[in-house]
Amino acid sequence: MSTSIRPATEADALDITGKGSYVLVLRLDEPRSIDVGKLGRVCFPAGVYLYFGSALNGLKGRIQRHLRREKKVHWHIDHLTSLASIEDVWWIDDGRNWECGWANRAAGLPGWNWSVAGFGSSDCRCSSHLHAFDSTSNLASMRRQLQRVCGRRFKREATASG
Ligand SMILES: [Zn+2]
Repeated sequence: MSTSIRPATEADALDITGKGSYVLVLRLDEPRSIDVGKLGRVCFPAGVYLYFGSALNGLKGRIQRHLRREKKVHWHIDHLTSLASIEDVWWIDDGRNWECGWANRAAGLPGWNWSVAGFGSSDCRCSSHLHAFDSTSNLASMRRQLQRVCGRRFKREATASG
């Protein structure tokens, strides 16, 4: 791995407040095969992954949890954040749920490769909340296009340290 997430003490200092929705930008430098609960074993090629979630009870606690490697695995995404680097976090603290709108937009973004069927979308009608992109994808461009879904600018925190 060429990148690593911040230690928990720095994650605690994240300047995140409010409630709303977020995007995790994950990067896998090499392919990994991971057991994802009931979804079974999923092969994740190297690349960039966007995960769409919402935290209507508070963004900070949720994002801190994602950034911790050591955790009790509960959600599908926990299987991935235990192994992959979280490179960036984008969020909107307007108290609304944008995750499904973003997930539906994701497949039309440049560099999109595939989505992991059923991942993170057990409680909605989306096919997936985890979408895979080329390693070379232009993250700034992807961010701009997702912002158009909600008509607001993301707040963001680059979390990779290396
Ligand atoms: Zn959804």
